[in-house]
Amino acid sequence: MSTPEVSVPGPPLLFLGVADAWAAALEGPRLAVPEGDVLITPGATDQVLYIVLRGQLAVTLDAVDGDPVAWVSPGDHCGEMAVFDGSARSAWVVANEPTVVVALDGETFWSLVERWPQVAVNALRAMAARMRGGNDEVNESRRLQAEYRRHASFDALTGLHNRRWLSETLPRQVERARRSGDALCAVMVDVDHFKRFNDTHGHAAGDYVLFAVAQTLRGRFRPTDLVARYGGEEFTVVLPTTRGRDAVLAADRVRRALADTPLTLESGDVVRVTASMGVAELAAHQTAEELLQAADRALYRAKGTGRNRVSTWGAVVDEPLPGVL
Ligand code: GH3
Ligand code: MG
Ligand code: MG
Repeated sequence: MSTPEVSVPGPPLLFLGVADAWAAALEGPRLAVPEGDVLITPGATDQVLYIVLRGQLAVTLDAVDGDPVAWVSPGDHCGEMAVFDGSARSAWVVANEPTVVVALDGETFWSLVERWPQVAVNALRAMAARMRGGNDEVNESRRLQAEYRRHASFDALTGLHNRRWLSETLPRQVERARRSGDALCAVMVDVDHFKRFNDTHGHAAGDYVLFAVAQTLRGRFRPTDLVARYGGEEFTVVLPTTRGRDAVLAADRVRRALADTPLTLESGDVVRVTASMGVAELAAHQTAEELLQAADRALYRAKGTGRNRVSTWGAVVDEPLPGVL
């Protein structure tokens, strides 16, 4: 590394308002760091602070060629923590382009502070700004985490909650019903002959139908009922504080609404789709998973007995209800 001449545009952050201190600092050794060269290595115990005069340094944490967590541009400094508290280096600092720095060892830095206390005030201000930047990053990463969680629990096609959400929510609903002694029902809904529908009208039309079915389920069950896309053309509805008989009546009302609602496809074709539904009421000692299995068995029964109907399994009264197929 040589000691090139560089004209610095004005006092850097550390020396704002103390031009004399800056002039003194500039007498320190200058280093030319070629692009890609490492200026600071984690674990090193040297105590030198660098002020960038020209070029740019990258700070990386996980690996020397990792994603930079900060950039150090002309007027900025780095390496000050080791000077402040004598700690070992904790990051890599690498030249992102040919860079020139002035190096201030601890002794020089503290003697500057002694003569010009404003340098210490500037150093504190710079550190506070860096910490605030760190806090902003933490807040941003929290916000992103919340957004990812939200994405992870919603189904992109229908906008309904997804199976992952259901698997987290249903056990809580079961627990709550158990504590309060309220009834709880689950309904599994499966669109009839949907493979055939896709084959006839195309996958995009199929997607549209799934969206429309989701809208009907959302709109026709009570606002307090929980509707999720279980996967593919299957949906699950959880009806809190509802007895099996009432769940069957509610499900059949929605089944009829689905069957009676004509859908106009982009092609102009007007179609109707039907769905089969299986209803199960939470039984004593039953887990969330067992409740869903019972609803699934009921659904299987609805498919087996002709589709476009509501069937039950388990604790729900098995004899046909008036008006229900
Ligand atoms: P069944 O009446 O017995 O339920 O017959 P089905 O054809 O509906 O059932 P099957 O399980 O054989 O087929 C389900 C079809 O649903 C096959 C699959 O391509 C389609 N499907 C699943 N997810 C989607 C999706 O997101 N979009 C579209 N368009 N189709 C889907
Ligand atoms: Mg299916
Ligand atoms: Mg189906």
